[in-house]
Amino acid sequence: MFKSFLETSLIKRAIKKKFLKINLINLRDFAADRHRSIDDSPFGGGFGMVFRVDVMFKALKKLGNQKGRVILLTPRGKRFEQATAKRLSQEKTITLICGHYEGFDERIHHYLVDEQISIGDYVLTGGEIPACVLIDCIGRLVKGVVGKEGSIKEESFDINGRKLLEYPQYTRPEIFQPDHKTKWKVPKVLLSGDHQKIKEWRNRHTRKVWQRPVKY
Ligand code: SAM
Repeated sequence: MFKSFLETSLIKRAIKKKFLKINLINLRDFAADRHRSIDDSPFGGGFGMVFRVDVMFKALKKLGNQKGRVILLTPRGKRFEQATAKRLSQEKTITLICGHYEGFDERIHHYLVDEQISIGDYVLTGGEIPACVLIDCIGRLVKGVVGKEGSIKEESFDINGRKLLEYPQYTRPEIFQPDHKTKWKVPKVLLSGDHQKIKEWRNRHTRKVWQRPVKY
């Protein structure tokens, strides 16, 4: 899963150009027994398997001070937002921990991590997709990753430091006719060349997050 993600588009280029470095760690390498088991059934009974605290401790200890900020991906974490991505893009190194099955021994949440992050109020099978979401969002904010810095300067959720949604964009053709009776037109002001008026129009159409989805 990580292989196909890391070998795609912008992230692949960023790794190649050494703006980003991703080190994948297989937690099974830290298992205590010859069956390479890293989880066990929950005390008190119940469904599923729980990740063992001793295995996680060993894995993080091996990383030592190379691990940077340790983040546990869990539905119980704080909701991931653009502001979180911006903050984490300033860190030199982060370690993302992906769970599977039932989750982690509570002592991992409590003693071994710096923060807990959720990508939204729903449950996925494992932490790999959440980790890819964080790598993509944080990665594109790292200096040099997105070629033209301007394109990430004013984006939804961070427009001049405010949590707003980007204004509508149009391109050619000026008039599109889906059938012979209908015309879908571009707002005239955007074709006027009057930069002040265009700026005002864009400001007026920059929506607040509670105005989602944009209505017509
Ligand atoms: N039993 C857990 C619960 O009810 O909170 C759900 C475990 S989930 C099936 C398995 C793993 O997927 C989690 O340990 C976590 O690493 C990851 N995961 C699932 N949903 C997530 C979310 N919304 N945000 C971040 N990680 C998530």
